[in-house]
Amino acid sequence: MEIKEILREIEGFAPLTLAMSWDNVGLLVGDASQEVSKAVTCLDVDDNAVNKAIEVGAELIVSHHPLIFRAINRITNPLLLKLIEHGIAVISLHTNLDVAPKSVNQVLADSLGLTVIEHLSHETGNTWHRFSLTVPVDDLEQVRQAIFSSGAGLIGLYDNCSQSHRITGTYRALEGSNPYIKGEGTMSVDEYELEFMVDESRLGATIEAIKNTHPYETPAFYHYPVSNANPAYGLGLVCENDSGLSLSQLQKLCRDKLHNPAPRLYLLGKDAAFIPQRIAICGGSGGSLISVANRKADLFISGDFSYHQIFDSGLPLIDAGHFFTEYPVVHYLAEKLQEMGLEADILEMDKHKGYIM
Ligand SMILES: [Zn+2]
Ligand SMILES: [Zn+2]
Repeated sequence: MEIKEILREIEGFAPLTLAMSWDNVGLLVGDASQEVSKAVTCLDVDDNAVNKAIEVGAELIVSHHPLIFRAINRITNPLLLKLIEHGIAVISLHTNLDVAPKSVNQVLADSLGLTVIEHLSHETGNTWHRFSLTVPVDDLEQVRQAIFSSGAGLIGLYDNCSQSHRITGTYRALEGSNPYIKGEGTMSVDEYELEFMVDESRLGATIEAIKNTHPYETPAFYHYPVSNANPAYGLGLVCENDSGLSLSQLQKLCRDKLHNPAPRLYLLGKDAAFIPQRIAICGGSGGSLISVANRKADLFISGDFSYHQIFDSGLPLIDAGHFFTEYPVVHYLAEKLQEMGLEADILEMDKHKGYIM
């Protein structure tokens, strides 16, 4: 399988345009036309990850944290040189995987056995667009199907979403034009106005689909970004505490299920026997989401809380570790690659530099 085909498959579950603007995701090292049969997945591309790829004969490493984050102006990093020397490509899926429908956080919820209710925040790097197009009456279905096939019309867990209403369009064909319905002077035509939502990542494909199926020489359409986000995506999750576990039991759950030997519980005025009804979770660094979590939940499980973030928190916190809250996604990435027909190995948890840190 060529790397570019793998990237196309990735667009299906973690579109790269969902990543935050400051992020660096996708193919970071390698040639998109390279053939791959074996891959290694890991959280960080460290020495052990590269050595493992060499050892098992993998042509690709898929990581969560980007190997290259800031702009570089020379290639002297021994890890990069080693990758290039051995012809090993690197794909990183970072914040696009954090906010995707099946996200780092969904995998974390599954690991903890928690039932998800909603997203914690709808923040993504994606822009959502309202799109309006006019279509002659007889061509509505054909154009609408092409638009849906391009990925437009997705709202939360529903696809094929659109609205259409009958309108009367007018036009006058100028010299050099080739109108669908020919006539003199200002013409009237029975049309539909077709409206739908489309993600920025699908906008180009949608316009292409319109150009390929619309009967007009110059289809009339416009689109504009909206200020709300597609509920299909978001950062962090709010879960139900179905099993009625107390704060101290939840701390133990993080230890057992995430294999963090010492998750830290900050009670912030609550008793360790307190049973939260709703639990907010966010893999990685969740400190900036504490105030949102406070509005939607009674406990927040994440990593990397700073002294002042903890100090100002209005709800109890469990710092289960940046590494440990995100590591479960390494298994998920391997499963996705196996579904594509590739052989995929994981870099074991205790082989990561982040585990022993
Ligand atoms: Zn992450
Ligand atoms: Zn992270």
